[in-house]
Amino acid sequence: AKESGRNRAEIFDAALQDLRTRRAQLDAALRFALERDELSLNYQPKVALDDGTIRGFELLLRWNNPQHGEIAPQEFIPIAEESGLIVPIGLWALEQACLQLRSWGRHRATADVTIAVNVSMRQLLQSSFLPEVAAILDRTGVSPAAIELELTESSAMANPLQTIETLSILKKMGFRLALDDFGTGYSSLAYLQKLPLDVLKIDKAFIHGLGTNSSDAEIIRLILALAHTLKLDTVAEGVETAEQVMLLKHMGCHLGQGYTFSRSVTAREAEQLLHLASST
Ligand code: C2E
Ligand code: CA
Ligand code: CA
Ligand code: CA
Repeated sequence: AKESGRNRAEIFDAALQDLRTRRAQLDAALRFALERDELSLNYQPKVALDDGTIRGFELLLRWNNPQHGEIAPQEFIPIAEESGLIVPIGLWALEQACLQLRSWGRHRATADVTIAVNVSMRQLLQSSFLPEVAAILDRTGVSPAAIELELTESSAMANPLQTIETLSILKKMGFRLALDDFGTGYSSLAYLQKLPLDVLKIDKAFIHGLGTNSSDAEIIRLILALAHTLKLDTVAEGVETAEQVMLLKHMGCHLGQGYTFSRSVTAREAEQLLHLASST
């Protein structure tokens, strides 16, 4: 018994060592990812539940490394946050969103399409963040009203005062602001009221059980009532079935995002989706 116990411990140590090695390798590779053109951005449509039109897209980072292949954001974003690389990567993503909006701005079909950009707390806490964001708006000449910044509820809870202060400035600059993964971060009503938000994004964990788990439906109803009281738009993420679309629509949720509508696609494919959506 002692023998096998030691074996298990050894196996565990080896697995942990493998994880650390991979993390260190990815961290080193990520430092060159931007300059080596390994990062790209995908677009996932956000669809109005009442009429099925595309109202915007969420920008999602992708990393394809020659040595490690395609690496999931769930794996590399935390590494980028820890090393601080998320700061330049996040600014690059925002600038790409602005350039895309500028090119779409010439088409009538895309005139009021928004792009949602994820922002990490690590970025928000940098004193250079606001001036860098202002510089990107200046360089690209894009209206911040077409850009929605998504911040997760849990990260907003980690630094409440700083979050209120920085979001208030971004709001004054003209950005739309969304609280992401809502329902998992334990924010109080008092705090929510202080955040200058436009949108609540209901975490996909609740949508997943919709149609099978009645307590998830109740939680979604509560979140929608709360959003209504605070006069916020609502987005359900991770919508995978037609039944979920129907239920969310009847509950009064505004927008849906998920595989039932579309996976995330390239910018070119996003344009095709827009042209299809606008020609019918
Ligand atoms: P998120 O912001 O919650 O993004 C939504 C995630 O749900 C995306 O995963 C998306 O592909 C996935 N998803 C969309 N529809 C469905 C569906 O119907 N079912 C299921 N099960 N999943 C769906 P992805 O692209 O792997 O991104 C994971 C996370 O990585 C994001 O979660 C976000 O926190 C982070 N991330 C992605 N891009 C960026 C970025 O540019 N900056 C920062 N800071 N974080 C990013
Ligand atoms: Ca998001
Ligand atoms: Ca989310
Ligand atoms: Ca176009």
